[in-house]
Amino acid sequence: MMMKIENELKKGNFLIGECTKCKKIIWPLSQYCSNCFEDISWRKASDIGKLIEYSEKNGNIFCLVEFENTIRVIGTLIVKNKQQSHIGQQVKLEKFEFNNGNFNFTVSLINDV
Ligand SMILES: [Zn+2]
Repeated sequence: MMMKIENELKKGNFLIGECTKCKKIIWPLSQYCSNCFEDISWRKASDIGKLIEYSEKNGNIFCLVEFENTIRVIGTLIVKNKQQSHIGQQVKLEKFEFNNGNFNFTVSLINDV
């Protein structure tokens, strides 16, 4: 089961787990629910998130993004207009990568004009 999930992640599919009993969102990979130790069912996560924080370093913009109102991940933010404040705005997941145990998220701003 875990191998199957890992393979999906490696293919670029952002999956999240949900406990079959208490409905707790499980991230990252885990065999059992950390709350009640029940089995987890896996599904594709929403590709829409919320920008919590971001900072620019050497031309790259790193960000903290929240998905499913629960999971917070570090990612790279693609921004066209840097003049605006973007905190709290919606972002779209452009690319998800899973390599050697590392997750890489690339997101872009929705309504970036
Ligand atoms: Zn549970």
